[in-house]
Amino acid sequence: MDSVTSTQKGQPAQDERFDDLTGIYNRYGFFSATEQLLKEYPDQQFCLIYWNIRKFRITNDLFGWNAGDKILVRWAKNIDELLHDKLAVYGRLELDNFICCVQESFIENNEWTRLGEISYTTDEAKYNLYSCCGLYKITDRTLPVSDMINKARAAMETIKDNYMRLYAWYDEAMWNALLEEQRMNSEFKNAIAEKQFKVYYQPICRASDGLVISAEALVRWVHPVKGLIPPDSFIPLFEKNGFISILDRYVWNEVCATQQARLDQGLETVPISINVSRVEFYNPNLCEDLRNIVKSHNISPELLKIEITESAYADNPIQVLETVKKLHSYGFSVLMDDFGSGYSSLNMLKDLPIDILKIDMRFLDNFGQNQKAIIVLESIIRLAKWMKLNIVSEGVETQSEWDYLRSVECDSVQGYYFYKPMPQESFIELLDKVAEHSVDLMFRSLPELDDTILEVFHQSNTKESILFYSMLSGMGLLEQCGDNIELLRVNKGYYEAVYNSAKGENQILNMPFEDPERSLLLEQCSTARETNQVQRFQLHHKREDNTYVWLAVKLRYLGGSPQRALYIFSVDNIEEQKKAEQAQCNAS
Ligand code: C2E
Ligand code: CA
Ligand code: CA
Repeated sequence: MDSVTSTQKGQPAQDERFDDLTGIYNRYGFFSATEQLLKEYPDQQFCLIYWNIRKFRITNDLFGWNAGDKILVRWAKNIDELLHDKLAVYGRLELDNFICCVQESFIENNEWTRLGEISYTTDEAKYNLYSCCGLYKITDRTLPVSDMINKARAAMETIKDNYMRLYAWYDEAMWNALLEEQRMNSEFKNAIAEKQFKVYYQPICRASDGLVISAEALVRWVHPVKGLIPPDSFIPLFEKNGFISILDRYVWNEVCATQQARLDQGLETVPISINVSRVEFYNPNLCEDLRNIVKSHNISPELLKIEITESAYADNPIQVLETVKKLHSYGFSVLMDDFGSGYSSLNMLKDLPIDILKIDMRFLDNFGQNQKAIIVLESIIRLAKWMKLNIVSEGVETQSEWDYLRSVECDSVQGYYFYKPMPQESFIELLDKVAEHSVDLMFRSLPELDDTILEVFHQSNTKESILFYSMLSGMGLLEQCGDNIELLRVNKGYYEAVYNSAKGENQILNMPFEDPERSLLLEQCSTARETNQVQRFQLHHKREDNTYVWLAVKLRYLGGSPQRALYIFSVDNIEEQKKAEQAQCNAS
């Protein structure tokens, strides 16, 4: 063997061509040795093999760096033992990435695949470690060695998450994908500056009746040349290079701005969930950033829900646990996304104080045929109920899936059957429509309440009170003590309905109702209380300045004691309608 193919074991560490830890070539040494090898054997066909050790980081965490180093040394030794008498050059590029350039004939028998696995023994047990590798047949010798390595690595990347495959051969499509990634990376900053990323919203519906109660923000890249690019094409890439943290914050800001605009206009909105990438859990500022973003938009944290993925927890359980606790203390609810997709699911439920479980949509794959998945799904829902967790089922595509989920008391549903992710403008239109039914929503979604209702409405940051104050239409609380009726609280919409402007807000509320208004109200209140049904009626209301306004009222009994009863009501101004009716009367 000539000098270039030798690894020069035992070479003093000072030689800059060799890796201090393993004694085989380092990146620099491998480059020059490979160039020389190709030059010396112009008629031989060579291949590159690029190895990456699977789960090496976890191994390091589990057994410590020392053990990690030993494994790397063993790996290098294995390569050395198999290749030292072959026409080959090999080295460690960095971390757990090894490389070799070897004669093609060596690949032809399967002996080389032995290099993909080693076992590591501790005092307690024996562990097997596996690698994934990419192979590149050197067809173009004019390429720089770094490009050849990139090609072998590109092949390796395609099977990195596929544990069933040991190796993959490079092909041109992989190279194009790599180039495309580089292009996206170089375009990112400009795309952010030009607001090419658009937030789409996918509504989440109450399972019992399909009413929109929330939404999820999902990003798209509206590229000036390539058109709409889905997140799966760029998020993994931006997770690798750290851009995701810029992109995620951009999305969170957009969502908060949308919420703020709704509230500023006195319009109704629903809480929106945002996705937090798994790599964010390595960022110590995550919670503060989220808190600052909602603060700067002057919205309650209840209007933003945080989706974290099960895989984030698997990667980094301690950090995720701390983050969830802190997010709670800041008033955010936390959803566990893609629940059931990973192996840690059940363990995680016991340890992590999340609020809502979002069940992975794969449970609904082949619904009707896959009995096993359904049994698991049902057990998860039951378990979650036990733990008082809310459940969202994702990926609902058919009526029969919905029917089924309702029957097992899943709380909320999301999926193409209801709505696909939609651009912001369409979502706003939908919210406006929802607002028309929001009074009904308010009536239906309030729990049966007793005296605590007042507390609920006095604490300005509870879900109910946000719903109440941001309601499009006028709403209020009414108290009845014997024959006396009093307004306790009203929202902005009430002033708009009664005084035709929000300016009426300074009006005094404790004006007693007078007959005939008082009698009519008492009558409606007692029916509402007896029947426990919403009462609808028209009221000719006398304002403080002795002028009158026609209102349509809906009233519902909330609860109370024999002496005192509470009612919630909504009002709509029907002056125009009344005038039109009057005009018609006069005409006929
Ligand atoms: P995810 O968080 O699990 O989001 C759900 C995905 O399922 C979305 O894909 C949604 O469009 C899709 N989906 C919803 N209903 C159905 C259905 O009925 N059938 C099927 N087949 N699919 C449905 P999308 O928008 O392509 O997003 C893919 C993934 O990209 C998301 O998965 C999420 O992990 C990630 N992502 C999206 N936006 C962001 C973001 O702003 N930040 C971060 N970090 N990740 C994001
Ligand atoms: Ca999600
Ligand atoms: Ca999901």
